[in-house]
Amino acid sequence: MIVSEMNTQECRMHLATSRVGHLACVTNGMPYVVPISFVYENSHIYSFSLIGRKVWAMRGHPQVCLEVDEIHSPRSWWSVIAFGRYEELSETGPRQNERDHAWSLLQQARPDWWEPGSETPYSEDKVAIPPHLFFRINIEKITGRRAFA
Ligand SMILES: Cc1cc2nc3c(=O)[nH]c(=O)nc-3n(C[C@H](O)[C@H](O)[C@H](O)COP(=O)(O)OP(=O)(O)OC[C@H]3O[C@@H](n4cnc5c(N)ncnc54)[C@H](O)[C@@H]3O)c2cc1C
Repeated sequence: MIVSEMNTQECRMHLATSRVGHLACVTNGMPYVVPISFVYENSHIYSFSLIGRKVWAMRGHPQVCLEVDEIHSPRSWWSVIAFGRYEELSETGPRQNERDHAWSLLQQARPDWWEPGSETPYSEDKVAIPPHLFFRINIEKITGRRAFA
């Protein structure tokens, strides 16, 4: 098996074609990792979330990373890690356009993009819209590796 580094352009291509990744952040000095849906565009990862542990964590420690991979076998896989800074896109203010853009990108990628991020074990009242937000990760560094037999 040969393991090699991917260049930045190859990493970006994999981010652009991926829709689910593992978001890693830090809360109370502990790592916290959850799967999220996202869309990549121009050095930004866009996503949507209810207000919960990961949002509180990223507000406290905005440096985060997102891992995506595709594993065909233990000898055939690729994996990309994008490191960057969390930024909330509020409905009003200077980031309103980016928030609308995030909605539009997610909508184009998958019409049911909102569903995995809007259900919780405590979602009893399906009518009320719980507190939610759009956010992006401004990518500062990407690394990638691939393996093939
Ligand atoms: C394919 C897929 C796509 C998803 N897309 C999104 C998305 O785009 N946006 C989004 O916000 N969420 C998405 N989710 C759900 C996400 O993984 C989290 O479960 C959810 O966002 C709640 O995270 P939270 O930090 O707000 O946890 P909270 O609701 O605050 O949860 C409290 C506690 O529950 C536990 N917990 C929460 N989530 C998980 C989990 N997934 N696995 C195990 N334990 C958990 C943790 O211990 C946490 O401390 C997706 C999940 C999957 C599988």
